[in-house]
Amino acid sequence: MTGKPCPDLRDRSAAPYWEAAARHELKLPRCDACGLVFFPPRDLCPNCWSDKLTWQTMSGTGAVWTFTEVHVPFYDDTWADDVPYVVAVVELDEGPRMLTNIVESDTDSLAIGDRVEVTFEDRSEGLTLPVFRVVNS
Ligand SMILES: [Zn+2]
Repeated sequence: MTGKPCPDLRDRSAAPYWEAAARHELKLPRCDACGLVFFPPRDLCPNCWSDKLTWQTMSGTGAVWTFTEVHVPFYDDTWADDVPYVVAVVELDEGPRMLTNIVESDTDSLAIGDRVEVTFEDRSEGLTLPVFRVVNS
């Protein structure tokens, strides 16, 4: 077993993202010059290359943009206890698309466009992952 990969929580461009997640808040950088909210966090706006960024709290709501359900663990047995699980791209109401997981959902009825809200998975070593669950309307 190789173990699951862990992001560098101290990485300068993403540290505020991980610190907010640990408090169960979803924050993303917003460009002060052009207004773009983007994911993943980085030092420069991917639209206009400005380095003037402000961390903004997201609503935590959005829609499934695409998804797949994983049934076969890959690499080794690291994810063997997790299958089946859903890997998805969620489009937040603020615009950015996040690669994430859909949890606590009936995957047989999961569909593109389903409304979702953020929830948080506290992992070991101080790592908290923002993931999403379907909101029943
Ligand atoms: Zn910009």
